[in-house]
Amino acid sequence: MSHRHKKAVHWFRRDLRITDNTALNRAAAESEYVVPAYVASVWRGGSHHWAGEPRQRFLAGCLASLDGNLKVLGARLHIRRGDPVEELLALAGEVGATGIFLNKDPDPHGRKIEKRLVAEAGKMGIEVVCCLDHVLHGPDEVLTGAGGPYRVFTPYGRNWLAKAKTSPTGRLKSLATPDKIPSMEVPDVGSWGLEPGKVVIPEPGERAARLRMDAWLGAALASAKKGGVASYTARRNLPAAEGTSRLSQDLRFGLLSVRELYARVEEGRSKASGEEELASYKTYQTELAWREFYMAILHYFPEVLRHEFNPDWRGLPWMRGEEAEESFGKWCRGETGFPIVDAGMRQLAATGFMHNRVRMIVSMFLTKDLHIDWRMGEAFFMRSLVDGEIASNNGGWQWSAGTGADAAPYFRIQNPWTQTKTYDSDGIYVKRWVPELNETPVARLFLQPKPGEPLAAGYPEPMVDHKTERETTLELFKAHRRHGQ
Ligand SMILES: Cc1cc2nc3c(=O)[nH]c(=O)nc-3n(C[C@H](O)[C@H](O)[C@H](O)COP(=O)(O)OP(=O)(O)OC[C@H]3O[C@@H](n4cnc5c(N)ncnc54)[C@H](O)[C@@H]3O)c2cc1C
Repeated sequence: MSHRHKKAVHWFRRDLRITDNTALNRAAAESEYVVPAYVASVWRGGSHHWAGEPRQRFLAGCLASLDGNLKVLGARLHIRRGDPVEELLALAGEVGATGIFLNKDPDPHGRKIEKRLVAEAGKMGIEVVCCLDHVLHGPDEVLTGAGGPYRVFTPYGRNWLAKAKTSPTGRLKSLATPDKIPSMEVPDVGSWGLEPGKVVIPEPGERAARLRMDAWLGAALASAKKGGVASYTARRNLPAAEGTSRLSQDLRFGLLSVRELYARVEEGRSKASGEEELASYKTYQTELAWREFYMAILHYFPEVLRHEFNPDWRGLPWMRGEEAEESFGKWCRGETGFPIVDAGMRQLAATGFMHNRVRMIVSMFLTKDLHIDWRMGEAFFMRSLVDGEIASNNGGWQWSAGTGADAAPYFRIQNPWTQTKTYDSDGIYVKRWVPELNETPVARLFLQPKPGEPLAAGYPEPMVDHKTERETTLELFKAHRRHGQ
């Protein structure tokens, strides 16, 4: 078989896997030799969207696992550190590669690098092949009748779900890599100056991600009632039940192909019986559409990283200064005196993960009860989450702040106490993460205690009164609208 390239580089980015990897498959098919490369970028200094230690540790583990998988195929991972364009072109020059294959990045920062790479490589006669891989449908595939981007989810989701989906391919069988190319050592968890880490994160790597996917889908196939995707609708909002897939970090780093995940869910759906089961499969697929909706929003409206999607709410007078810093600190540490908020923040600190329902509660609390700028919470989440993903995180924060695309209207302010009653009615989640409250009667977790009546010794009293702060928020938003700012 003749190849278009004798040698080519595959640049791994958010696609740290060898199964159903669009650009890697093309590189393998179109080149005699492939040099698999990863460039550890110098993080954007000063930007508030940087990754924290748990995510970096997860990444380091994924790279080590990827290197192991590539070795089985006959290749190995080449790691560089620095500016990706310079490093990739230097690598291509060193090995004599005439092509660079990559999967497109949905993040505006990643897209800028792609553009630079295409321009610079062109000058050197190197072809850059950019593939769609991270999503089922690129932002230009799901558009309104008028050909523009959607601003609300429901019609976007309907359109997304109705579109034909690309089928996954299997695992690559072999990959020929030229010998003797210098590379940095593939990091293990202890290198890169990362501490052994107190945060207990999921096992990194493609194999672990595949086991998680199998467990999530397999549990459903083995018995519909025993959890997994088949009971998603009943359990997804209950943080104590752990009834969600826990695959967000695997999708974020591309340890799993979203095509494969979707196809396997679809297969399960075709065998499902009963309304609840069918609804569960569909709801799960709809969540995958939300992920792509927020990526499309970020694609067409990259300014959401700086300011509110909805222009009506730009310039809101968020709290600033020392008092705000102090309140923010209590929120970050899980010391607000609101049990469900503290439980969420402590789950985040201990595991680099927080249940979606609780993400909504803590983010609404920060913005609506403490009146603190959603951007501060967004940055803290990006530093703390293993699954930190710029588009979903921004979308989630702007949803809660009431400022985003298809956001909760500003006047729909969730009450953390009633949310606890609805979604953690046995107090199991709260008590799991806030052990000071172990002896507190569950019913007390559903009502704001009066001043001087703490929920437990050693547990702080609520730092604010929810009803009062709710009124303040309504007034702030209304006044802002009245003055037409
Ligand atoms: C304030 C806030 C910040 C968030 N930040 C992130 C983030 O940084 N990274 C991230 O992946 N998700 C984020 N989410 C969305 C959601 O909370 C997580 O995707 C979900 O909790 C991950 O757990 P899971 O894999 O078990 O989800 P499941 O319920 O099993 O969902 C399956 C997959 O669908 C996608 N998904 C589910 N819900 C959403 C959603 N609301 N928006 C976008 N995608 C979704 C995720 O890829 C998820 O893995 C955020 C939500 C909020 C409210």
